Amino acid sequence: MLEILKKSAIEQSKAIRNKEISAVELTKASLERIKEVDDKLGAFNSITENIALDTAKKVDEKIAKNEELPLLAGVPLALKDNMNLIGSKTTASSKILENFVSPYNATATQKLLDNLIPIVGKANLDEFAMGSSNENSAFKKVHNPWNLSKVPGGSSGGSAASVASCETALALGSDTGGSIRLPASFCGIVGMKPTYGKVSRYGLIAFASSLDQIGPFARTVEDAAALLEVISGYDKHDSTSLNIPVVNYRKNLNNDIKGLKIGVIKELISDGLSPDVEKAIKTAIDTYKSLGAEVTEVSLPNLKHSIGIYYILATAECSSNLARFDGVKYGHRTANAKNLLEMYCKTRAEGFGPEVKRRIMLGTYALSSGYYDAYYKKALQMRRVVTDDFIKAFAKFDALISPTCPNTAFDLGAKTEDPLAMYLTDIATISANLAGLPAISIPAGFDSDGMPIGLQIMTPQLTEEKLFNISYKFEQAHDYYKQIANI
Ligand code: GLN
Repeated sequence: MLEILKKSAIEQSKAIRNKEISAVELTKASLERIKEVDDKLGAFNSITENIALDTAKKVDEKIAKNEELPLLAGVPLALKDNMNLIGSKTTASSKILENFVSPYNATATQKLLDNLIPIVGKANLDEFAMGSSNENSAFKKVHNPWNLSKVPGGSSGGSAASVASCETALALGSDTGGSIRLPASFCGIVGMKPTYGKVSRYGLIAFASSLDQIGPFARTVEDAAALLEVISGYDKHDSTSLNIPVVNYRKNLNNDIKGLKIGVIKELISDGLSPDVEKAIKTAIDTYKSLGAEVTEVSLPNLKHSIGIYYILATAECSSNLARFDGVKYGHRTANAKNLLEMYCKTRAEGFGPEVKRRIMLGTYALSSGYYDAYYKKALQMRRVVTDDFIKAFAKFDALISPTCPNTAFDLGAKTEDPLAMYLTDIATISANLAGLPAISIPAGFDSDGMPIGLQIMTPQLTEEKLFNISYKFEQAHDYYKQIANI
């Protein structure tokens, strides 16, 4: 059964259509694989076996009646545990929501169900999606399938580990500052953050609403493009959702990229790059040159401010978004409070983990009177300046490339005592969120310890087709994507 689980999502769906395997059999194989390896990985917070099998049965009924099927029908998927799915808990890997049951489906989740994609479980994450290593889950850490003593990256570490270990061929994650791309890079798979507004955030637990986007994980670029097609589109429930048609993102995958102008971001290839990552970027540059693209360096001088800007804006927004978890409306309520104020304080003290508390305090500080202008307003102004750097760069370049992260997956525990070191992991990914750009991480080789390296590609807003095209060309020029973690 591992054979079929190792295939791409498109191949799995073909096998179902050709009746080589039924959707129920494939879903059972995925559930079996989870039973087999997830004790070691910790990728799932909960398993939604009944929901998955119900969907798979519907696929098999349609096949029996020779009815049309959506493209990814029957292909098992892992859903990050910060998106609502009726009949399951949505915990956000937090004690405060440990027993919270989804009252409605997120729009992205509903689209998965409408497309008959069996959701096999809720994937582990850093608490409230705050983190870069998936060590901030209140329940358990996620381990990297390539080396169990390493982190999978965060915050969507469970989603990435599930796809990298062939528990599923597909997963959804959310990306506020890199939470899809970083784990994709550390786990050797494809992870993509769409243009801000492409995918509805309705039913996603909000972290920083001006930055959050839901996006796909897969082992191939084509699968990721197909999954984005499923989940994107206008939604009246999300006021930031864009009212534009969903296009076929796979249509131009194999287009020639001769003459395309690709900029290598100077600020992201200079300092602090590990030698293996540096080598992989050189290979990527050579690959694109040999495919006929013009590759030159480009400077985005304000990129260096991204981390500072992000950790003011994201914490400010989260301090406001997380105010709703007060013991009254959602989740955990303390058992021993004598009055209302004590109830709020104890509920939040008991329910939130240390990183979430740190962010709420930082954000509250940045928004408080007297500091608002100096921090929050300044950060908003600087966000504009970084965005302008991109606008200038895209006047000359079709796409920008960089490593997804200056280093490969680090050891579990290596950065838990040093929040700043952890925050710096996002140096290459955050700016795409600040500017609302589509960005992807694709496999780009391995370091001397056999750990995967990710290449990040960014293109202008709403040019997902081009982004997938440029990614596909690179993917097909190498066989990195064919190598699968041996667990
Ligand atoms: N690592 C970043 C953070 O900790 C990004 C998280 C995310 O994208 N959700 O905030």
